[in-house]
Amino acid sequence: RVKEHGRNGIAFYRPDMLNAVRARLSTENALRKALEGNEFELYYQAQVDSDGPIVGVEALLRWHRPEHGMVSPGEFIPIAEESGLILPIGDWVLHSACAALARWRSAPGGVCDLSLSVNVSPRQFFQPDFVERVHTYLEEYDLPGDKLELEITEGVLLDDITEARCKMQQLAEYGLRFALDDFGTGYSSLRYLQQLPISTLKIDQSFVSDLNKEGDHSAIVLTIMSVAQHLDLKVVAEGVETPEQAGLLDELGCHVHQGYRYSKPADEATFLALCNTRNASRTVV
Ligand code: C2E
Ligand code: MG
Ligand code: MG
Ligand code: MG
Repeated sequence: RVKEHGRNGIAFYRPDMLNAVRARLSTENALRKALEGNEFELYYQAQVDSDGPIVGVEALLRWHRPEHGMVSPGEFIPIAEESGLILPIGDWVLHSACAALARWRSAPGGVCDLSLSVNVSPRQFFQPDFVERVHTYLEEYDLPGDKLELEITEGVLLDDITEARCKMQQLAEYGLRFALDDFGTGYSSLRYLQQLPISTLKIDQSFVSDLNKEGDHSAIVLTIMSVAQHLDLKVVAEGVETPEQAGLLDELGCHVHQGYRYSKPADEATFLALCNTRNASRTVV
């Protein structure tokens, strides 16, 4: 944030603040050109059932920023949100995700009949024509809506629950499903889970990484599993890195895992190759 203005309307900055402001501005300017420059790419990370097959996949945005290499979304999504650039960028993500799904479905052998999860930011979700956009892309690629899952955060629900419910219900009519991302880190009430068409809870990776620390850290995961069971929701554990974590999650009844233990987010070709090897033994019935 910009510092309070001085007596003559002149703002005073410390040099490190000035540098931070400069870096931010330059990121924002570079982001403005990134779409035209074709600098974005979707990576894909598998969601794996603990006894083997890939059961889902999440699209994760990557930015190949010239002279900076690959920049992680954590660094630019917040800037895109604040500047409004998230609207065209988010739209590109949705469109590209639908295009990818269509490619996979028409590939010989029907590579993956997986459903694809796409992260949607609050500002993108609340744009007035969001539902129409999603519908347009489904039509363009002739996709059944149930192949697409939108990952939203609790922030979306807190912003405007009435509007959120209305949009989610419209999208649910097209078959879309919703996952609540980073679950357990926000403040959403259990009532939301009951009133909204949410089908999946994603246990935040912070709870997963606590699991193999000293002491018993299973309480939160157990609580989420119990809520999910009562409300008939699927659960995906995020950030599963070790066999120990995977084992503990299994013991706690959580069998769908996403994390480096199974695969890092990868470009499309790498992801499809993984699908083929991993599910190969199962395709032949
Ligand atoms: P998220 O949706 O919670 O995605 C999970 C993040 O955890 C991803 O980071 C993923 O690469 C990382 N991850 C997966 N497995 C592991 C693991 O085993 N260990 C660790 N330490 N990390 C793991 P990523 O790709 O950097 O994305 C960060 C966040 O940026 C995402 O969190 C999501 O909130 C946001 N994001 C990514 N792509 C998009 C997008 O297309 N649109 C929007 N609006 N946000 C996006
Ligand atoms: Mg996500
Ligand atoms: Mg998450
Ligand atoms: Mg996260």
